[in-house]
Amino acid sequence: MKLIYEGKAKRLYETEEPNEVLMEFKDDATAFNGAKKASFADKGRINKTLSVLLYEMLENEGVPTHFLRDHGENSIIVRRVEIVQIELVMRNIVAGSLAKRTGLPEGQKLRQPIIETYYKDDQLGDPLVTDEHIRELNLARPDELEKIKRSGLKVNNILTRFFGKAGLTLVDFKLEYGRLFPNKHNIVLADEISPDTCRLWDAATGAKMDKDLFRQDLGDLITGYSEILTRVQNALAS
Ligand code: UDP
Repeated sequence: MKLIYEGKAKRLYETEEPNEVLMEFKDDATAFNGAKKASFADKGRINKTLSVLLYEMLENEGVPTHFLRDHGENSIIVRRVEIVQIELVMRNIVAGSLAKRTGLPEGQKLRQPIIETYYKDDQLGDPLVTDEHIRELNLARPDELEKIKRSGLKVNNILTRFFGKAGLTLVDFKLEYGRLFPNKHNIVLADEISPDTCRLWDAATGAKMDKDLFRQDLGDLITGYSEILTRVQNALAS
């Protein structure tokens, strides 16, 4: 299989179908723009399984995604897209860079969800960008940006409600979007949705169960991720 791209946590391979791509979830984890690295046995499988369950749920709720089908332990088949070079961050509760940037206390509930856009550029350290920056950099057309933000709000509503049922608080998360091949007219949700890209706290105790376990050396990452997966599966079955 021909490798198309290798990122920090995933690999993309060509398939026989020109408009389908195999996405493999790695066990590697990085933080602080790659400065901190480690590998966790089983992380790829857990993140793949969670992404599949969440993508299926979003598709059922009318959110178009790149997901096509499950493909073995660590991989899925997705539609080929050109990734929009923007990271959309949705926030419900103050944490991470929002606490640092604003001085608001971690854990404070936001009056309404905050949408942020970051320029996906490792060399620049993924800076926060405004709509005008996005226009000037040609990262997305205004109509595409509007679609992306509207989709982000919808995804936030669906996931907040669902994780709530699973006894988890969705603090914030990152989404990426892509333009569907071959004509690149349609924007769909792409990348992954997993504890690598979402902050999830235990609804009862506030304990962190996501990648902050690794970022902040708070405890065993796989224990947190496995518990999230079990709760998600139980919530789906109930
Ligand atoms: N996030 C991500 N990839 C990134 C940056 C952030 O998945 O490159 C996610 C992160 O897991 C969190 C949310 O986006 O759920 C907001 O992250 P924040 O801006 O607070 O940055 P951090 O504190 O992770 O540096």
